[in-house]
Amino acid sequence: MLIIGSHVSYKGGLLFSVKEALSYDANTFMFYAGAPTNTIRSKIDDNNTKEAWKLMKENNIDINNVICHAPYIINLANKKDLDKYKFSINFIKEEIQRCAVLGVNKIVLHPGNAVGISKEEGLQNIVEALNEVLEKTTKVIILLETMAGKGSECGSSTEELKYIIENVEDNKRLGVCLDTCHLNDAGYDISKFADYLNEFDKLIGIDKIKCVHVNDSKNTLAAHKDRHENIGFGTLGFTNLLNVIYNKRLEDVPKILETPYIEKEYPPY
Ligand code: FE
Ligand code: FE
Ligand code: ZN
Repeated sequence: MLIIGSHVSYKGGLLFSVKEALSYDANTFMFYAGAPTNTIRSKIDDNNTKEAWKLMKENNIDINNVICHAPYIINLANKKDLDKYKFSINFIKEEIQRCAVLGVNKIVLHPGNAVGISKEEGLQNIVEALNEVLEKTTKVIILLETMAGKGSECGSSTEELKYIIENVEDNKRLGVCLDTCHLNDAGYDISKFADYLNEFDKLIGIDKIKCVHVNDSKNTLAAHKDRHENIGFGTLGFTNLLNVIYNKRLEDVPKILETPYIEKEYPPY
């Protein structure tokens, strides 16, 4: 069965997220445990969480398919500002702890932005940071997202993700989240998705793919931009995206839409 949902709000705690997901008839969802652009986090209300678990159970939402997304201001690739780097590491650790309290075991992370240093150095910084984060936390799996390659973003090629995964000591708790918009913008042609998967399988192993962000793109192949578009309204097109979500090799992988609200107001899910 297709496991599909969208990004939902977490403003009223996990219970609110579940309710929003159910309002779209979704059987999974993704949330940010606070604003994606800042690191302000409110205390978790245990009653709210218990109610959320109950509601998920009643509606056959498997919590193993539920995804948390780390805020994108976190940057593990650059340590020129050592305080900021350490802050990012600590924040991810805390976010993972919050996931564990919520019973959520997958967190998507943008690997990082090299800004001003080489990508090689950036990747090395990410490896070091992840070693520390994984050593100091348990259970939750970190999913490195495939990036569009905007500016000095790390993780825009399968080789870069492979480098990170191979060099992290305890990589059992590392996985990958494919983002179709980002793949296109990074230069991977979604109309040849089977080829992409074959190459991914050769380099990393297809079993590492634990989430797919299903987005159309406003931009052309290899634009290195990262602007999401609604399904069928962008350059990827409806059929190509349908082929991704129904791909037999990714059958058990949750699919999450991160497509823009219509007129900035109405969720299209
Ligand atoms: Fe993301
Ligand atoms: Fe994404
Ligand atoms: Zn994006």
